[in-house]
Amino acid sequence: MQVANRSVRPTAIQVPVVGADEAFVVRRVYCVGRNYVDHIREMKEGDERDPPFFFQKPADAIVRDGDTVPYPPLTSDFQHEIELVAAIGQGGVDIPVARALDHVFGYAIGIDMTRRDRQREARERGLPWEIGKSFDASAPCGPLFPASRVGHITSGVISLSVNGATRQRGDIAQMIWNVAEIVANLSQHYALGSGDLIFTGTPAGVGPVVPGDRMVGNIAGLGEISFTIGERNAR
Ligand code: MN
Repeated sequence: MQVANRSVRPTAIQVPVVGADEAFVVRRVYCVGRNYVDHIREMKEGDERDPPFFFQKPADAIVRDGDTVPYPPLTSDFQHEIELVAAIGQGGVDIPVARALDHVFGYAIGIDMTRRDRQREARERGLPWEIGKSFDASAPCGPLFPASRVGHITSGVISLSVNGATRQRGDIAQMIWNVAEIVANLSQHYALGSGDLIFTGTPAGVGPVVPGDRMVGNIAGLGEISFTIGERNAR
């Protein structure tokens, strides 16, 4: 059978890899909710002993380091969540915790951008989180640092500033589930594949941004990323 129109084939979503010519081709983007106790407290999200959980963003929601993040429609409370991103190199199912880091190709700094007003509304009404979390350009992500180059990230400062003022500051060691536990747990829900990115949750200090703001994110060992917030509804 002939393919009627090859142009409908979507462009591969890629994230650059530090020190390599070939970029990392993204398959899926998973996110962990409720992975730092101090953020659960600021969100007043109920029982702190409830386990973290997962949601997804579309792969083409990724915005590359240095680019503009358009202010999305349908919100007046557009918020930042700085997160460590783990990239899956080799997929698998039911991966044991002790083997989980063997599946991690590397790490990046990401920001889980959130329409907080829509997320709260969905939570209160028992509706899915998509409108609050899984929209266009909602996943700014810096370059990937291979674990073979920087090791596995298990501790160190994670922080985000807006226009030079620190908003979020925590330590990777504060995560409720560490990266190995996240990979193991997620692989029970879904078959993980090469190219999957996992945003691993955010520390306290989340807050709103407005057009023209400049967000700078840092994680010890992974350098710095920066994004400017664009005009409202500039799509
Ligand atoms: Mn998040």
